[in-house]
Amino acid sequence: MNIETPYYIISEQRLLENLIKIQQIKESSGAKFVLALKCFATWSVFGLIKKYLDGTTSSSAYEARLGYEKFGKEVHAYCVGYTLEDIKEVGAFASKVIFNSISQLKRFYPYINGTKLGLRINPGISYSNFDLADPSRPFSRLGVINKKEVLTILPMLSGVMFHFNCENDNFENFSSNLDHISKVYGDVLEQLDWVSLGGGIYFTKKGYPIKKFCQKLKEFSKRFNIQIYFEPGESVITKSAELVTKVVDIVQNKVDIAIVDASIESHMLDLLIYRSKAKIKNNGTGKFKYMVTGRSCLSGDIFGTYKFDSCLKIGSTIKFSDAAGYTMVKKNWFNGLKMPSIAVKRLNGKIDLVKVFTYNDFLNNLS
Ligand SMILES: *Cc1c(COP(=O)(O)O)cnc(C)c1O
Repeated sequence: MNIETPYYIISEQRLLENLIKIQQIKESSGAKFVLALKCFATWSVFGLIKKYLDGTTSSSAYEARLGYEKFGKEVHAYCVGYTLEDIKEVGAFASKVIFNSISQLKRFYPYINGTKLGLRINPGISYSNFDLADPSRPFSRLGVINKKEVLTILPMLSGVMFHFNCENDNFENFSSNLDHISKVYGDVLEQLDWVSLGGGIYFTKKGYPIKKFCQKLKEFSKRFNIQIYFEPGESVITKSAELVTKVVDIVQNKVDIAIVDASIESHMLDLLIYRSKAKIKNNGTGKFKYMVTGRSCLSGDIFGTYKFDSCLKIGSTIKFSDAAGYTMVKKNWFNGLKMPSIAVKRLNGKIDLVKVFTYNDFLNNLS
């Protein structure tokens, strides 16, 4: 199938490899897993993901609704700041509503009847290489800090959420942080039915010590007689998609510069925010070096500098790998650039073009 570039292509086979690992973790640890929609919400592949995961979690009423409509199973509704309208909306379908503060919990408690309630706790510890994404950065508003206050409202809750990791591939670090949580919040956990340990743990990464991880989780849930949840985003979909682009021009300014028909600012924004380079296959082994850039007017719209096996030409294809997480959910119409389509390579090898954007989508994005 010949799809016009630019496009994201999701491989169900690659996705399945992650999902099978999660299935193994579920079976040997007893933990449950809900997909964080803020990372990945391309619902055309939810049919596959929902066979393995227990539901979704959200950052807003719209995401919660999407989880309910397109994924089903458990809907964890979390938001940093709910309005009353949000609460009325999510209260109708959420399996759990998780509040970010005690004031939100107290204010909206009367409106939510019979839904299981949770509270986000900020344990004051975290793992993150980026200040921007660090939940326990100075003056963090994410979760309740004061444990004494948590104890006063405990009867209102059935569970709590600790999200304290970002891109954490270090099991020893996770393990000692979990010990810290056990020590400080053990008396809270003993009185609850469930605890969510958030997202940000790279348990699907090659070499992650899954056995030790599961053992640790089993001990924890047994000790407090509690159901563990995780809310992974990135580790569910990691390495499962590519952004496929074509070179539209080649220019020189001391180095050779290829300009492609996509943009890092518009189509892989997280890389720009965190100042990371886009990944491509076989990076660095060829002889032909180019700086690969986007076609927005932003001077720093640069995917990275790579060595290719052959000389690039106008029309050459460049594929950026690991393009599923925090890309499609963050794409934007800056510069009015053509929006990458979305394609899915199904398990049977068939390619479905699931979304094509047109000028009308750009037009209707504003008025
Ligand atoms: C971002 C976030 C997640 C998902 O994080 P990943 O790093 O994509 O696994 C889960 N829970 C909460 C509360 C989050 O803010």
